[in-house]
Amino acid sequence: MFNYIKNIITGLISLCEGLWVTLKHFFRPSFTLQYPEQRPVLPLRFRGRLVMPYDKEKNDNRCTACMLCVKACPNNSISVEKMIGEDGKPKSKASKYFYNLATCMFCNLCVEACPFAAIVMSDEYELAVYEKEKLNLELISEKYNLTGPKEKWWASKFKEE
Ligand code: SF4
Ligand code: SF4
Repeated sequence: MFNYIKNIITGLISLCEGLWVTLKHFFRPSFTLQYPEQRPVLPLRFRGRLVMPYDKEKNDNRCTACMLCVKACPNNSISVEKMIGEDGKPKSKASKYFYNLATCMFCNLCVEACPFAAIVMSDEYELAVYEKEKLNLELISEKYNLTGPKEKWWASKFKEE
């Protein structure tokens, strides 16, 4: 009989504890979003897919084909083709910048390795495609237009040069 009453009391205490947790969370702001109608406000350091922003002041990208990002990438996701001058010698400029989104793990090592802030991880996170070939991107021809706070943040990396 004693154990029976003890079990009922323990059960009631446990029930009240559960209800108290529910009550507390009922008045807290919600952390979930009604995606895709609602979109999250992303932090500046958010790592979406890699892009090579177009520098409007320079009227060009900032890549010098130094290959540091290629060496820094642990997954061989990047390959760069240097521009060839009229004298047949390679120039300090990339003609093609290939980026394999399928093998990228968004580690940001390439961005950190770049001394010219030529590449940045964008806010793009809806990256699913139906054809695998579409994951092989050429970033120079995109002339990617960074906008908003991310553009200012990116520009601040080289404006004091
Ligand atoms: S984010 Fe990492 S894995 Fe992706 S391209 Fe850059 S270095 Fe390679
Ligand atoms: S993106 Fe940066 S690190 Fe990579 S080749 Fe261009 S200048 Fe060099």
